[in-house]
Amino acid sequence: MAALQHEFEHPNKAFGWAARDSTGFLSPFNFSRRETGEKDVTLKILYCGICHTDLHLSRNDFGVSIYPLVPGYLSFLIHSIEKLKWIFLCSVSEINNQRYQLLRKSLMIMIYRHEIVGEVTEVGSKVEKFKIGDKVGVGTMVDSCRSCQSCVDNLESYCPKKIPTYGFKNVDGTTTYGGFSDTMVAHEDFVIRIPHGLPLDAAAPLLCAGITVYSPLRYFGLDKPGLHLAVVGLGGLGHLAVKFAKAFGAKVTVVSTSPHKKKEALENLGADSFVISTDQDQMQGVIGTMDGIIDTISADHPLLHLLGMLKSHGKLVLVGAVAKLELPVFPLIMGRKIVAGSSVGGLKETQEMIDFAAHHNVKADIEVIPVDYINTAMDRLHKADVKYRFVIDIGNTLKSSS
Ligand code: NAP
Ligand code: ZN
Repeated sequence: MAALQHEFEHPNKAFGWAARDSTGFLSPFNFSRRETGEKDVTLKILYCGICHTDLHLSRNDFGVSIYPLVPGYLSFLIHSIEKLKWIFLCSVSEINNQRYQLLRKSLMIMIYRHEIVGEVTEVGSKVEKFKIGDKVGVGTMVDSCRSCQSCVDNLESYCPKKIPTYGFKNVDGTTTYGGFSDTMVAHEDFVIRIPHGLPLDAAAPLLCAGITVYSPLRYFGLDKPGLHLAVVGLGGLGHLAVKFAKAFGAKVTVVSTSPHKKKEALENLGADSFVISTDQDQMQGVIGTMDGIIDTISADHPLLHLLGMLKSHGKLVLVGAVAKLELPVFPLIMGRKIVAGSSVGGLKETQEMIDFAAHHNVKADIEVIPVDYINTAMDRLHKADVKYRFVIDIGNTLKSSS
């Protein structure tokens, strides 16, 4: 019954790999995609990056998913109203309550990935921006309300009704499935053009990791030449933060737990210095030196020493998806320092970011992997053992079983 729902809720057959329980183990999965609507773009997916958020969600790191066996198929169910409201909704508005109810009703098999790059195979009759054969990408969202202040301001990522690329409900009630699959259909407004000269595989991580670090650098004024910035955590987001910060003309210090990343950070990524966060002497040496910090750490960690690194009026921007961190207040008061969070940028800024990346030769350092390496890759990502983004070669290695 459920298999029927997934395979036949839309007319077009699709194939991917999905997780069915909190082990996060991925295996082949047949489902369906909607027909190309008049404003839709359909793409053949060629590459897809693996973001740590995929890992968080597949392993239930936020504690919002459980995996009961609903007759016929396994599902992710959101089980804690309070946790969910706290993590995703923040304010209890009517819109958010409705959105929550929608979420709560969702029964999802998760097809992850939101760093999707491919080639347009079909466009709707009213599509204006794309044509068949164009190289395009889809990031973390596939729709939004288009009318709230965030949408009007081109900040769709902060729209309370935005529709994430996977694990959510479309306006028609069907489930969104991510990029670990052969095809994708999205409204043209949520499709990004990949500029010529940017390799498609190395461009894929820009659609989440890239825009997640580019956006706060721009918004918080950390894009000015001559600033001294720290990038904390040298993973998928962190290595791109180093590259964008350097492209903006900053002096960049990497703060890492991994000594073996030092040589590469300095020689290949262009960082100016590298400190180990657990080495007190090294951390002493950078106290009061930073104008801004982009913190990309994916796990619980102390903030005190990061706040100590800031100059007065410095800004610590958290982008790592960590549910809760302890915030020491005195260092903020004494230096009028700012702690902020930031999500991905809107569509306009994402296109700006990727054009900037092409212009300044900013691309992700990647390990391209075949589809059947995916479960090993997820384990390695969990151990921070990747330089610096896994990208799945969907186009050449995803084979349908039927
Ligand atoms: P990643 O590639 O796994 O990199 C995370 C890095 O954090 C690791 O390479 C490691 O760097 C450091 N780290 C990991 N565990 C640590 C620990 N226990 N203590 C200190 N440092 C630790 O992950 P990513 O894809 O860059 O994503 C980073 C975070 O951003 C994730 O939480 C992800 O969900 C989140 N995210 C947020 C947004 C948003 O909209 N704000 C968008 C995308 C991703 P070192 O080895 O250098 O220490
Ligand atoms: Zn992501």
